Amino acid sequence: MTKPTIELKPSSSPLSAAEREAILVNPGFGRHFTDHMVTIRWTEGRGWHDGQLVPYGPLSLDPASSVLHYAQEIFEGLKAYRRPDGTVATFRPDANARRFQYSAHRIGMPELPVETFVEACDALVRQDEAWVPPHGGEESLYLRPFMIATEVGLGVRPANEYLFVVIASPAGAYFPAGVKPVAIWASEDRVRAVPGGVGDAKTGGNYAASLLAQAEAAEKGCIQVAYLDAVEHKWVEELGGMNLYFVYGNRIVTPTLTGSLLAGITRDSLLQVARDLGYEAEEGRVSIDQWQEDSANGTLTEVFACGTAAVITPVGTVKSARGEWQQSGGEPGEATMRLREALLAIQTGRAEDTHGWMHEL
Ligand code: PMP
Repeated sequence: MTKPTIELKPSSSPLSAAEREAILVNPGFGRHFTDHMVTIRWTEGRGWHDGQLVPYGPLSLDPASSVLHYAQEIFEGLKAYRRPDGTVATFRPDANARRFQYSAHRIGMPELPVETFVEACDALVRQDEAWVPPHGGEESLYLRPFMIATEVGLGVRPANEYLFVVIASPAGAYFPAGVKPVAIWASEDRVRAVPGGVGDAKTGGNYAASLLAQAEAAEKGCIQVAYLDAVEHKWVEELGGMNLYFVYGNRIVTPTLTGSLLAGITRDSLLQVARDLGYEAEEGRVSIDQWQEDSANGTLTEVFACGTAAVITPVGTVKSARGEWQQSGGEPGEATMRLREALLAIQTGRAEDTHGWMHEL
């Protein structure tokens, strides 16, 4: 099957520079979208075809498209950063492409070649480069590749037609007024994913299933839910949209990839960055009992969450049915802030990219 090339059909009426710059002053997250999008189709027997870069706009879908009924959908999230010399680079797009292939496989969808995924992201960033915020802060252009099943029909089986799309949205700093620890809700009853399920695939259904718990957590003043394993309700897995790290002085632990949590690219990168900075970084198991106990006895010095959207977010307070406790006195911890700065420096081009993570356009 042939690899599609992306035909450029740019907009004849993109937003004016003044309108775009007004948005870039305070873009928020996921509220504004750039002038273009890339689409590629897949059809059984024909493979990937009709790659195009077109003006951003609504998709036309038949009401019987199978994604609307059976949620055969996957997505990714990655960022492009402006560097000190004005050029733009994306962070580990090949890792997102590989995770996208894994998600596709798990949800019964065709796998987009890694180089096509990267090429599609590149084409969009190149076209809409003016939407990448200036160098200097933590702002970036967030890319959202996704794929949906477009076959028309209500049969429950893998579809025979798909649409891959990449859209882009400028993203402001997650903490515009300085990094502040957040509160999270550790749930001992609701679960996110089960062994043998799809917790390690980035598929929309996982997020739909988490929204009620997320709303309940928000009512208690928490930004996200920390989920435990679904069998013993004991082992900490991850948040609804971020991985977790536990800091024991110089030893840093993140929950092992058991199959029911997402293999975060920030999580993976931080294992390396932590080792570069001289920490002992490892994957392991942390129970909710240990979390509470080690916070109380002071051996667990910091906890932080990590993911593409916020890079690193310190956890200040943990609330749960068993009570409430604080991490590092409710202040951002030293290791948290060092790791945050080290990773952001690589992403924004302020530090040398020793791992070859930055992809230049
Ligand atoms: N876990 C979940 C459930 C997520 O949605 C995300 C965000 N993609 C992460 C972890 C962090 O992954 P990454 O570092 O690749 O953004």
